[in-house]
Amino acid sequence: MSADVLLDRDAAEIARAVNDGESTPHALAAAALARAHTHEVLNAFVTRHASADDAIAGSGTGTGALHGVPVAVKDNIATTSLSTSCGSRILKGYVSPFDATAVAKLRAAGATIIGKANMDEFAMGSSTEHSAYGPVRNPVAPGRVPGGSSGGSAAAVAAGIVPIALGSETGGSVRQPAAFCGIVGVKPTYGRVSRYGLVAFASSLDHIGVFGRTVDDAALGLGVISGVDPRDATSADVAVDDWRAHAGAERLDGIVVGVPREYFPDSLEPAMRARCDEALDRLRALGATVREVSLPHTDLAIPVYYILAPAEASSNLARFDGVRYGLRADADDLRGMYEGTRSRGFGPEVTRRILLGTYVLSKGHYDAYYRTAQAVRRRITGDFTRVFADGVHVLFTPTTPTPAFEFGAKSDPLEMYLSDIFTATANLAGVPAMSLPIGTVGGLPVGGQLLAAHFREGDMFRVAYALERAYGAEAHA
Ligand code: GLN
Repeated sequence: MSADVLLDRDAAEIARAVNDGESTPHALAAAALARAHTHEVLNAFVTRHASADDAIAGSGTGTGALHGVPVAVKDNIATTSLSTSCGSRILKGYVSPFDATAVAKLRAAGATIIGKANMDEFAMGSSTEHSAYGPVRNPVAPGRVPGGSSGGSAAAVAAGIVPIALGSETGGSVRQPAAFCGIVGVKPTYGRVSRYGLVAFASSLDHIGVFGRTVDDAALGLGVISGVDPRDATSADVAVDDWRAHAGAERLDGIVVGVPREYFPDSLEPAMRARCDEALDRLRALGATVREVSLPHTDLAIPVYYILAPAEASSNLARFDGVRYGLRADADDLRGMYEGTRSRGFGPEVTRRILLGTYVLSKGHYDAYYRTAQAVRRRITGDFTRVFADGVHVLFTPTTPTPAFEFGAKSDPLEMYLSDIFTATANLAGVPAMSLPIGTVGGLPVGGQLLAAHFREGDMFRVAYALERAYGAEAHA
């Protein structure tokens, strides 16, 4: 089988073919790079290897579960072989002296990194319109955004350039673009995947996540990068079970699916609701019990997120001062150098978040904003803990309120922030969540979201495998 044909198969099948000598990592890297070239108009990459030779030289020598599988890595995840710019001018051309743990694990498993995927600057955004390297187009509908902030990773997978890509999430940046591009996107439990080498946005909310064309690609990719890491004190020493063991799941008897009523407001587009109702019908037909539940603090998630995330960002981004990394402005004195570097280096959305974060952490406002938001965050987490303790295995919701929107449609930042209304809760609570295709509205992909209890990714994958199978080929066509 030619490498180009093989590239359309599941990652597991690609690795098997390479192990059996039917193809080579070099041929697959060449095929992926050729496709990246064909899809140049998507602007999915900030940088990529110039040739298959380069890509192979910059990868590991592993022969494991991803042997020869070409992958893309979001541009805020450190790699020694290509620059890590975070979609920002301030880090243009910056090359990390070390690999992120997730990247080291990909290399050890035999994956070939072909490029660094474009993204909203410092992962702030929901459309990938806010990259210093230009916007990314949605491969399904090029006049529309791919979602964000991991829009480049999602576009690279949806366009068939790579079967698996790494993204990152602080409030939905893997699940939302997965939904907009018609692919699978998963964010694990907080602590499941090391954040070492993920450039920090809001450390208590940041996760590395995985995009795949299929549930199995996502499960395989996530399995490879999971596990405790001495370099990240918040990574968890919890056994990583074999999520792919659920691949054969045909029935869901005994599984309780909770449907939180707060995720189906009256304002939800009827067509979006209809796709969700069909998915729930399929879950019932598979034997699952569907039960309405309530997560009463859901409507506080966006205000809480937009206090906590900017607060942490304002502190994390203080390190970009022109001294240690990247851009340095010429100036007569130190203060002028700081000001020049930061005002030229950061784009408007990042600047807005730093201002917002500095404000909510200031002496006079700390209690009113930051402390209150932390208390509400605990209630949001408590909502999840309660329903999962009450016999619910997974929750089902829409991933987004609408399908992919047009470029420029959300010029008001507040409107953009509301894109994460159904996803930010999982980051605040740290529970695992994923999006998978559940049909289309007006020809545009719609994502259904599954959420599970902490470290219960297995429940989520079991339901996802069965649901994907119930949709058959149609959802991925
Ligand atoms: N869209 C959200 C934000 O702009 C979430 C981004 C993310 O998950 N990285 O902050």
